[in-house]
Amino acid sequence: MESPHGTLSIVSTPIGNLADISQRAIQCLKEAHLVACEDTRHSGTLFRAHDIQTRRLSLHQHNEASRCIQLLEMLSIGKNIAYISDAGTPLVSDPGARLVHLAGKRGIEVEVIPGPCAAISALAGAGFPADRFYFGGFLSTKKTARTRELQHALDLEVTSVHFESPHRIESTLHLLSSLSPDRQLVVARELTKKFEEFRRGSAQTLAESFQQKRIKGEIVLVISGSRIPSWMKSPHPVTPD
Ligand code: SAM
Repeated sequence: MESPHGTLSIVSTPIGNLADISQRAIQCLKEAHLVACEDTRHSGTLFRAHDIQTRRLSLHQHNEASRCIQLLEMLSIGKNIAYISDAGTPLVSDPGARLVHLAGKRGIEVEVIPGPCAAISALAGAGFPADRFYFGGFLSTKKTARTRELQHALDLEVTSVHFESPHRIESTLHLLSSLSPDRQLVVARELTKKFEEFRRGSAQTLAESFQQKRIKGEIVLVISGSRIPSWMKSPHPVTPD
């Protein structure tokens, strides 16, 4: 017997370049009865770019609990609902886990329409071993906690990936430089956008290169693991400004 429930679709959206969305994602967003968005105004740009007319409803960290109840009721009467965050893959340092968890528990079909993710894009562009990696999410804003997190990342054998704000990246690079000056890092900035850049080098050289610069844009910091393959051992200059 066919399920009377609708489907919950978790849809990845661009992290900068509006063309980075799959045909399947566009079709899903067009055909859903409703699209739950982290920020309805923000997703308006994507909707206009791809001529998506579906009704939107907000679902963010401040209304997640009440919205979940409402959306689960709609799903239970057969409505198909898509969920998108502001950018990239929902749930990855974004809201949505509660909705997916509760939908799964109620036997509602959950599908994922994969696509961009800043953490994975930075990892792919970093060129460090990525057969295994650790994702640390956002580094803490408090220096003591951030130092602990960075030390944890430095102790790992595997590559680690972290989100960092442009206001704190200089301080974070200095912390890394004081903890492990030779460790290889990549700062991935403005991925998929006009000013995309990958800055590569040791913690010390990158800390110097970012010193007293007004850094703008979105940033992913990739830290190489303590175990490095032989092909990473040759010296490697910092990308010039
Ligand atoms: N779920 C999203 C994803 O899959 O990409 C990540 C959401 S998290 C709230 C936002 C953080 O991701 C930003 O603060 C930044 O660290 C990183 N980020 C998002 N877009 C980026 C981009 N285009 N370039 C570099 N980092 C980006």
